[in-house]
Amino acid sequence: MAQARTVAFPSGIRVPALGQGTWRMGDDPARRPEELAALRRGLDLGLTLIDTAEMYGSGAAEELVGEAVRGRRDEAFLVSKVLPSHADRQGTADACHASLRRLGTDRIDLYLLHWRGGVPLDETVEALEALVAKGSVGAWGVSNLDVDDLAELPDGAVPQTDQVLYNLSRRGPEFDLLPYCREYSIPVMAYSPVEQGRLLGHPALRTVAAAHGASPAQVALAWVLRRDDVIAIPKASTTAHVEENHASLDLHLTDDDLRTLDRSFPPPTRKQPLDML
Ligand code: NAP
Repeated sequence: MAQARTVAFPSGIRVPALGQGTWRMGDDPARRPEELAALRRGLDLGLTLIDTAEMYGSGAAEELVGEAVRGRRDEAFLVSKVLPSHADRQGTADACHASLRRLGTDRIDLYLLHWRGGVPLDETVEALEALVAKGSVGAWGVSNLDVDDLAELPDGAVPQTDQVLYNLSRRGPEFDLLPYCREYSIPVMAYSPVEQGRLLGHPALRTVAAAHGASPAQVALAWVLRRDDVIAIPKASTTAHVEENHASLDLHLTDDDLRTLDRSFPPPTRKQPLDML
């Protein structure tokens, strides 16, 4: 069985390096049983960090997650996000309350600002810290913030993570964001680690996958997970995909594999603005 690798947040809390995403889950009633089974299989396998957001299906994904963890809430590490349009003092508290209700819990383990909008960052941070003080939220973090945004966070305010688009075809963060976060011991949470499936037919991934008897998805995930400061949150809505993704924890890419992948997906040589999906 694959190793349960963990990554530490600045708080010292450790979470599995491989979690589960939920964007576009919970929308189709016909797929619900399969999606619930997938999330629960992930929990069984130790993919206990589940990422969701009030935005996903306007709350439908959070409701699905709530149902998936019912009776086993303490096994899960729940991550959710407040929309920027709600991220003022009162709006953040109200959004969190609504998310807690949909998730069927009294605590979100990690609550993120989904992306930067019009509300000043200090106000959002103050609102997030108030939720931590109240116990509704275990800790707070951010998403889609580039280095200059992170530098604007109020003095002494340390997010537990920055959740950003990072995969083989989106290597921009390696130039400055990953080094910046490493300096502050902030792990990055890589979203869309298989580029929503678009990476999976790529010849370089297929070549490396074939050499290991693995799948392109496993290569894409093993590549993201090669770093000890990155958490990957692929979304998989079938148990077969969850099991396949879990097995990527046992796939160790060789230096030759990494060189093959670098030729098709070169590392950045200059600043690239952070991409968003
Ligand atoms: P992703 O995880 O890169 O890709 C999901 C797609 O890949 C789904 O179509 C899934 O199919 C497929 N897939 C997963 N495992 C597979 C496998 N082993 N073999 C073949 N196909 C596989 O994209 P994502 O959903 O955009 O990103 C992951 C999560 O990150 C989201 O769900 C969300 O939680 C988070 N996210 C956050 C932000 C943000 O702004 N903070 C933005 C985007 C995403 P099936 O569903 O059929 O299994």
